[in-house]
Amino acid sequence: MRQKYGIGAFNIFDIESMEAVVEAAEEQKSPAILAFAEIMGDKISIERVSLIARQIAQEASVPIAFHLDHGQSFEYVLKAIRNGFSSVMIDASMKPFEDNVAVSKKVVEVCRPLGITVEAELGHVGEGSTYGQDDDDSFKTVPEEVKKFIEQTDVDALAVSIGNAHGLYKKAPLIDHELLKKLEEVSKVPLVLHGGSGISDDDFRKTVREGICKINIFTEMSQQAICDTKELLDKGEYKWVLDCCFSIKEGMKKIAKKRMEVFDSVGKA
Ligand SMILES: [Zn+2]
Repeated sequence: MRQKYGIGAFNIFDIESMEAVVEAAEEQKSPAILAFAEIMGDKISIERVSLIARQIAQEASVPIAFHLDHGQSFEYVLKAIRNGFSSVMIDASMKPFEDNVAVSKKVVEVCRPLGITVEAELGHVGEGSTYGQDDDDSFKTVPEEVKKFIEQTDVDALAVSIGNAHGLYKKAPLIDHELLKKLEEVSKVPLVLHGGSGISDDDFRKTVREGICKINIFTEMSQQAICDTKELLDKGEYKWVLDCCFSIKEGMKKIAKKRMEVFDSVGKA
């Protein structure tokens, strides 16, 4: 039986965010994932991020993966491959089932010979800002489709929609544990939980026991970094802009370490 723990995938965008995650992982002796989302590509070049991320991951004393988060097209995934990502996500979850299968399969065909793992999404993980609307259930992952999707695409991991959402939740998230258990039963690949920020520790522990192997976190880290840095500025306890950078890093690191404990990945590196 596999050891039940979850690996945190933390979104990164600069040196501080990468060091926050890697230092947290080293101190917790936990594996971790540096996740770069395609939407961040507007603000910072994927080429530059990759150079630094690969260097930092290589120097780490624990296993660190460098992952493309929410790749929206085959072309962008190719760009990530050229830039040395060790795993990619292709997210065609808003497209019809057949189209999602087609592009995910195409990505697997390119990645498999290169030893790059592929995550896809089935069902759709929406936004926390519209959480709790009546149509939420229609986005949930359908167990009957999971088997078919994995057989047809041969993906390595699958992001599922079980009442989770991205960003800040408008109201407390209601995780559908019964659905997750059904999905785990029919899936032969590890399941992924997006939209981790705002989910309770109890729910996290439960989802890991029920089969979630990778959990994406960003908003919570971001919020902590902002709060800590605002406090620093309010108190006037700074001299250089570097003090703000350091505060941002420490805020993100604090959450990464905390989450590794809840996901039970501490000591697993
Ligand atoms: Zn996501």
